[in-house]
Amino acid sequence: MKVLMLIVDGMADRSVSGKTPLDSAKTTNLDFLAEKGINGIMDTIAPGIRPGSDTAHLAILGYDPLKYYTGRGPIEACGAGIEVKPGDIAFRVNFGTVEGKGCVFDKVVVDRRAGRIQDKQVLVEAVNREVRIDGVEFILGNASGHRAALVFRGENLSDRITDSDPKKVGEKVKRVKALDSEAEFTAKIVNEFIERSHEVLDSHPFNEERAKHGMLKANVLLLRGVGKAVHVPSFEDRYGMKMAVIAGTTLIKGIGRLLKADVIENERFTGSRDTDLELKVKTAVESLETHDFVLLHIKAPDEFGHDGDFEGKKEFIEKIDSAIKPLTELDFSKVCLVVLADHTTPVSVKDHTADPVPLTIVCEGVRSDEVEKFSEFHAYRGGLCRIRGMDLMNIVLDLIGKAKKYGA
Ligand code: ZN
Ligand code: ZN
Repeated sequence: MKVLMLIVDGMADRSVSGKTPLDSAKTTNLDFLAEKGINGIMDTIAPGIRPGSDTAHLAILGYDPLKYYTGRGPIEACGAGIEVKPGDIAFRVNFGTVEGKGCVFDKVVVDRRAGRIQDKQVLVEAVNREVRIDGVEFILGNASGHRAALVFRGENLSDRITDSDPKKVGEKVKRVKALDSEAEFTAKIVNEFIERSHEVLDSHPFNEERAKHGMLKANVLLLRGVGKAVHVPSFEDRYGMKMAVIAGTTLIKGIGRLLKADVIENERFTGSRDTDLELKVKTAVESLETHDFVLLHIKAPDEFGHDGDFEGKKEFIEKIDSAIKPLTELDFSKVCLVVLADHTTPVSVKDHTADPVPLTIVCEGVRSDEVEKFSEFHAYRGGLCRIRGMDLMNIVLDLIGKAKKYGA
């Protein structure tokens, strides 16, 4: 038996005058699945703990975030296509714009996204080619928009250092500081990298050309989210199942690569509201032919939650609902379908909260319950009651006959 897991990012919400976007949306297909399956609510990490999307996905896939999550940097680096190794330190990077005189740390950040630059591959290549730092290797990986990821590899590297990104315009680039004496070497080489890369970027013909046309130079790399990579067992080693990930966002692709899954790329999977939902669903169903476990991730409802847009979130959930029609037609004697959100992103809060998320599991033989609607207000009455994210894979493995017996 195979598994298709649909994770809708931030789909769950809190009550606004007794309603949530999911509860007020017309969701014929999700409701059909809820009626057919077993339902419940889930604390992705633990009751009262507000999850990030990265820690949430790790827990849902049965990887204890307390053990495997060492910051966003390593996951973003995997997402940017860098092969991260244990001991590496990795950062999330923004291409930004600095102006002023002196060295990079005397200059002021005027834009943290370099005018939302897109086509920066040539700059990434120039930094990788032209910057040399004694005693350490580095890899700068390109990601979408103004984003990138950076990995340092070498002896005695430490992630006990601060960010260089001031996270505000009008402030100077921050010199990276060591948080303990063992991190002093790392802080020194990272600062050196920030200076050298600024010199290369600031004088690069691509940026000179941008400046000539009145555009902002992408002349600084702003570093944050540092983490030291640890060994993470692959999904296949752990569960004996070959995994495919269908996602648009770098973060979720990064989780997939971290677990050595096949990340199925398509430029129409944007990780935003303009994504091609029908194509994603079709790709997920097709991937069941070649893979044992397919993770289908849809991002946009989280964005509407962060924007505080109730109607937008509701309408997008309805779009998802009509796009997933093919999932209702799966052969549930061969496929176990799991539908859930990774966390709650209430429009009233505009950020993630710890409220549990609804989930449904559909497969042949599952003890279906009386829940007939996929919604925060109905799911808790289901047969799964209230579980944690780390329980989900065990429950799924048991349903598909792959769980090991504990005892005789
Ligand atoms: Zn999320
Ligand atoms: Zn979010």
